[in-house]
Amino acid sequence: MKEIKNVVCPFCGTLCDDIVIILDDDGHIVGTRHACRIGNAKFMHFEGAVRYTEPLMRENKKDDFKKVDYDTAIEETARLLAESTLPLIYGFSATECHAHACGIELAELIGGIVSNTAEVCHGPSVWALQDVGYPICTLGEVKNRADVVIFWGSNPMHAHPRHMSRYSIFARGFFRERGREDRTLIVVDPRETDTAKLADIHLQVEPHKDYELVSAMRAVLKGFELQVDKVAGVPADLIYEAVEVCKNAQFGELFFGMGMTQSGCKHRNIDNAIQLVIDLNAYTKFGLMPMRGHYNVNGFNQVCTWITGFPLCVDFSRGYPRFNPGDTSITDILMRGEADVMLNIASDPGAHFPQKAVDYMAKIPLICIEPHNSATAEISNIILPPAIAGVETDGTAYRMDGVPVHLKKIMDPPDGVLPDREILERIIKKIREM
Ligand code: SF4
Repeated sequence: MKEIKNVVCPFCGTLCDDIVIILDDDGHIVGTRHACRIGNAKFMHFEGAVRYTEPLMRENKKDDFKKVDYDTAIEETARLLAESTLPLIYGFSATECHAHACGIELAELIGGIVSNTAEVCHGPSVWALQDVGYPICTLGEVKNRADVVIFWGSNPMHAHPRHMSRYSIFARGFFRERGREDRTLIVVDPRETDTAKLADIHLQVEPHKDYELVSAMRAVLKGFELQVDKVAGVPADLIYEAVEVCKNAQFGELFFGMGMTQSGCKHRNIDNAIQLVIDLNAYTKFGLMPMRGHYNVNGFNQVCTWITGFPLCVDFSRGYPRFNPGDTSITDILMRGEADVMLNIASDPGAHFPQKAVDYMAKIPLICIEPHNSATAEISNIILPPAIAGVETDGTAYRMDGVPVHLKKIMDPPDGVLPDREILERIIKKIREM
């Protein structure tokens, strides 16, 4: 038996970096320590039910796949991308940052459109941050300082299971030695989730009325009186109470999830929430942070912003980067039926995109860089299996607070299987040769 310490869990945006992996004498993972149930499952079953170890190809989507070598699959991928009029490159949120940089380079080379899974989760957050600003801090500061924590439209008990024990609610910090007893928890959610059950104040907002509730809180904060008994289904008394708690915090943090980004008003909800946090900073120190889902969804937005100036939905078809979500977002382009080739990497849009977009994906040549059988792999023409980042290859990922974390390699990938970054580098090289 062998133990590897301080491994980073490549599952959710919390990126816990204290995981212990237990390997047997043959180098197989037989156990973990410190990981939550999801993180444990990620390591124990990282190969999934079906693990691809050789590239697969088929010309017609009704045909069966045939095994080919990497050279053949990469050459055909390069040909499809180079000959295409409007190629799409999408995904990236479950791989490391070097692969992100290669994907963006590839998009520029072929005049395509590149984006990541934030389109269907925190995309509205990142464009609100560009509009209004980003009052952020690190998770370490939350752990050590926060005495008021808000979870708005997120349920970390299920989606980020160690967030509350490591950083936000139960964690014992330098100025919060008693952990939970030193913190007040406010949850805003239409449902009585397991996180809401722990709350000191639960604002049970009506679905799609988040904007109204934020506006009411800002009005109360500025000294206005609410002229109604309820706003967005929340009793006025409870709104006054929550605002008073926030105003009197020594250090507060608002964590928000897709319940806020994907409900009515979308990025305007986040604009308004940022303004609420700015207003609160007239009284105390308050910050705001998106609860990022995929472990490196944030990394793509960071890398894409350094390279192109924009966080996602970047269109290189005119030879320079353009960003216009709705016009240059891959979901919308697929729904309008405009693309003629798509390369998907480290994500499963076949399982998450609107049906109309998936139907169109099924019609065009689709290349999938994917280690497992997935809904997207099922409708692909080419499957290029990569090594799994954070298990079979190292790299960098960005935690939800923007802190870069080094992913460890625990074991070698199956013979001949290449990391995502190397597959993309080889596609780029082949296109340059063409
Ligand atoms: Fe992994 Fe997230 Fe669980 Fe931490 S909270 S162990 S990062 S799944």
